[in-house]
Amino acid sequence: MTPERLSYFRDRLLALEKEIQATLEASKEDSGVVELDTAIGRLSRMNAMQNQQMALELRRRQEQQLQRIANALKRMNQNRYGLCGRCKQPIAEERLEVSPDVVMCVKCA
Ligand SMILES: [Zn+2]
Repeated sequence: MTPERLSYFRDRLLALEKEIQATLEASKEDSGVVELDTAIGRLSRMNAMQNQQMALELRRRQEQQLQRIANALKRMNQNRYGLCGRCKQPIAEERLEVSPDVVMCVKCA
């Protein structure tokens, strides 16, 4: 991969990281524990708990993606960015274009 492309993907990763961190920061307030003795009815309490479950699931996925981004940046510093984690072959740049944090080529994924 050329240094230009590498720096392009680095920028993409950093932008993605920033975006997810901002989303996580903004959703912090939503993931608080549902108060069980509030005056809301049983149904709306169930809704609130479902919403909370979904918010937690989303957070979990976002945190995993942050981890993948951090790993991708680490691989970049070790000159291994864009190489498949399993077969060590270069990952197609079109694939990296879609998700710059992927760790495996199409065949291995
Ligand atoms: Zn592979």
